[in-house]
Amino acid sequence: MNVKRYDDCVRSSQKNQDEIFWYQGTLHHVFDGGWMWVIPFNNHQRSTNPICSVGVNFDSRRFPKTNLSAEKEFQNFLTKFPDIAIQFEDAKPIRNWVSTGRLQYSSSSCRGERFFLLPHAAGFVDALYSFGLVNTCTIIVPLAARIMKAIGSNNYTKEHFADLENLQQKLFDYNDNLVNCSYIAFSDYNLWDAWRRIWILGSSMRQWKAGVQKSLKINAGKAKELSTLDFEKNLDYLTPSFEGLGDRFFSEATAIVEKFQQSQLSANEAAQKIMSAIEVIDFLPPNYLGLADVANKDLDVASEFGSAEQKRFLFLILLRLGMLVSVLEP
Ligand SMILES: Cc1cc2nc3c(=O)[nH]c(=O)nc-3n(C[C@H](O)[C@H](O)[C@H](O)COP(=O)(O)OP(=O)(O)OC[C@H]3O[C@@H](n4cnc5c(N)ncnc54)[C@H](O)[C@@H]3O)c2cc1C
Repeated sequence: MNVKRYDDCVRSSQKNQDEIFWYQGTLHHVFDGGWMWVIPFNNHQRSTNPICSVGVNFDSRRFPKTNLSAEKEFQNFLTKFPDIAIQFEDAKPIRNWVSTGRLQYSSSSCRGERFFLLPHAAGFVDALYSFGLVNTCTIIVPLAARIMKAIGSNNYTKEHFADLENLQQKLFDYNDNLVNCSYIAFSDYNLWDAWRRIWILGSSMRQWKAGVQKSLKINAGKAKELSTLDFEKNLDYLTPSFEGLGDRFFSEATAIVEKFQQSQLSANEAAQKIMSAIEVIDFLPPNYLGLADVANKDLDVASEFGSAEQKRFLFLILLRLGMLVSVLEP
């Protein structure tokens, strides 16, 4: 409790650039070798919960686990980062401190006779990009369709679930690469600044290509085409991809960051290469989300879209509902 709003700690005298304040969402502090989450539950006017969730993730290769208590470890961490420490000057814990070992795990297979492991049971990489519930929802929709088919035919053969296992592995691999390169890039401001743009690009490209951004202008034919896609059999639409940039765009970007890790590129060289790869994308609107402008550090997707964003989300929800209906109807 009593974790300060970070907005008040660092820029009380400045006008906020964002339409959304940091304390209103999940705040990530990133540092060389790890990151920290600060998730306040008293983040809006009608909040009744004064508690804030706080956690620090260390790369255990850089910061091997010690015998120190979790509380002492946290205090040592704050001593190293006085700019973060300000936020916790008045904070007091309301439950026991918890420290744990390595968080990552994965199963070699997630399907068997009459079972299928959902994403969080099958594997976990890192909470950095909050893929947990998204991945679970991604798998549940086509899994439900397959289970109903299995019930209908009384045939639970695990082969029927092979493509889903394949998709689940792709979701893990994408998250794994994204997180790994993030931890590498945390050590250099410019490289991290470039790499987070790859993440934003990957999160928005599919919607952009699908015309969702132009959802309000979508014509009847296109809407029909979207609603009649065979969501059950064709899993391509759920597979992480950088639509229109080719299969290699993401792997080439990760290779650049890994070259920095292997000392084959300096951090600035790697950052410039990534920015160049973004700059040459010629089919996005000029300065799409400000991603290609290295001087623009305020990549605020919410304020970029304003009220149109709300309409876009509504469309996405409708699209999802359409998917569920198409799956649930026999
Ligand atoms: C530190 C951290 C931060 C995260 N942050 C985010 C985030 O910001 N956004 C996001 O989307 N996701 C996040 N996630 C992931 C998210 O929490 C999971 O994806 C989600 O909780 C998975 O839901 P689930 O129901 O599949 O599994 P769980 O929530 O793990 O539920 C499984 C339940 O089954 C119970 N259980 C296990 N074995 C048995 C048994 N044999 N008998 C009976 N019960 C049993 C368990 O006790 C548990 O209650 C985070 C995860 C972690 C660890």
